[in-house]
Amino acid sequence: MKNKYDVLVIGGGPSGAIAAKTAVEKGLTACLVEKRPAIGAPVRCAEGIGKEALHEFIDPDPCWISAEMTGASIVAPDGFLMQLASELAGSKVGYILDRKIFDRELVWKAAEAGADIAVKTRASAPILENGCVKGAKIESCGAVMNVAADVVIAADGVESKFSRWCGVDTTVPVREIMSSVQYVLADIDIDPHSTVFYLGNEIAPEGYLWIFPKGERSANVGIGISGKKSGQGHRAKDYLDRFVKKTFPRGKSIEYIAGGVSVCRPLPCTVADGLIITGDAARVVDPLTGGGIYNGMYTGRLAAEVAAGCIEKGDVSKNALMLYDKTWRESKMGKGIERNYHIKEYLIKQPDTKLNEIIHSVSKINLTEFTTLSLIKEIIRVNPKLMLELGVLAASIH
Ligand SMILES: Cc1cc2nc3c(=O)[nH]c(=O)nc-3n(C[C@H](O)[C@H](O)[C@H](O)COP(=O)(O)OP(=O)(O)OC[C@H]3O[C@@H](n4cnc5c(N)ncnc54)[C@H](O)[C@@H]3O)c2cc1C
Repeated sequence: MKNKYDVLVIGGGPSGAIAAKTAVEKGLTACLVEKRPAIGAPVRCAEGIGKEALHEFIDPDPCWISAEMTGASIVAPDGFLMQLASELAGSKVGYILDRKIFDRELVWKAAEAGADIAVKTRASAPILENGCVKGAKIESCGAVMNVAADVVIAADGVESKFSRWCGVDTTVPVREIMSSVQYVLADIDIDPHSTVFYLGNEIAPEGYLWIFPKGERSANVGIGISGKKSGQGHRAKDYLDRFVKKTFPRGKSIEYIAGGVSVCRPLPCTVADGLIITGDAARVVDPLTGGGIYNGMYTGRLAAEVAAGCIEKGDVSKNALMLYDKTWRESKMGKGIERNYHIKEYLIKQPDTKLNEIIHSVSKINLTEFTTLSLIKEIIRVNPKLMLELGVLAASIH
């Protein structure tokens, strides 16, 4: 590792990997530091991504695709199962990745493009000069060094500390942190090509439970519930264990993970002088689904592109870097986050009876494509009175 780069990327997840790769492709010098000893492990993800979303960044490779989905089902609180036909769900539902290998592949590609990579290497503090981020203190196997950079990209995930150390308020209200746990279950009877989502306040309060197939007889089976609903006897794990015992009594758990997912709005500002914040660290996660792989890659690429332009012009002030913040907010991704935040806020307030009503009504309609937007439009068409209940959301989609 050198002691000066154009761009220093903190975090070796999808966001950091794409940021580092893009930076070097733009002709910059870049170094990515990852505090864990191995890229991609342990996995804290259900590993689902839409096909179109993935193709925007990388061609699919069987090495890191565990399963290809052709359908999706939603199970209402009353047990009613709504199946989305494969031709509707196919292009949007997508793949279940093997993130241990996928994340490595992304970092390999950054390395091949020319980025320096350092694992088991942690950014422990920013280097600040008059409030401007000028690099980071880097710790590796007991040694500490200062690494200077024109721009630091904080891609340090949901537990991000770096931006906070730089003075950015990254607090997320407890109710907007989903408490999530997941098993990789083997030897279970599933449809290996369809994801299943369970909704309802009994099964997953203010959240949902998922089955994402990983093979013919194995799947990621997990749950996310609102942090505020979690407590003794009704933690996320308690809900999941009850479901697994009932649904897959003979299933064998071969992996267990726990983690937080922020389902709040993104940070009010995702740049500072010399600093760009991306991916989960910027809270650019889809508040409705908790999905953040695509959003992380999207913001990682954009961050490096904007950094390159600003470095070339010799201005890495917050003002100049605001182009990044403005661009992602105005993008399809940014608008989708805002829209889905309203949908999530609406749905989590609904009793099970209302969720049943919504799912039953949607199952009767003939969707021509499966997107959140088309789904919501159809729900409103079938239930015009929902217009009033959805309020601001309805206004934003008409
Ligand atoms: C249970 C669960 C299920 C999920 N399921 C899905 C899903 O199906 N689909 C989907 O799209 N998303 C899902 N997500 C979200 C998804 O995992 C994240 O949105 C995605 O990983 C974000 O990528 P990232 O690069 O921003 O952050 P991360 O992948 O978290 O990477 C951040 C990296 O930064 C490193 N780091 C942190 N601090 C430092 C430091 N100081 N110095 C150096 N390195 C540091 C961390 O070790 C980590 O490797 C899920 C999340 C959870 C918890």
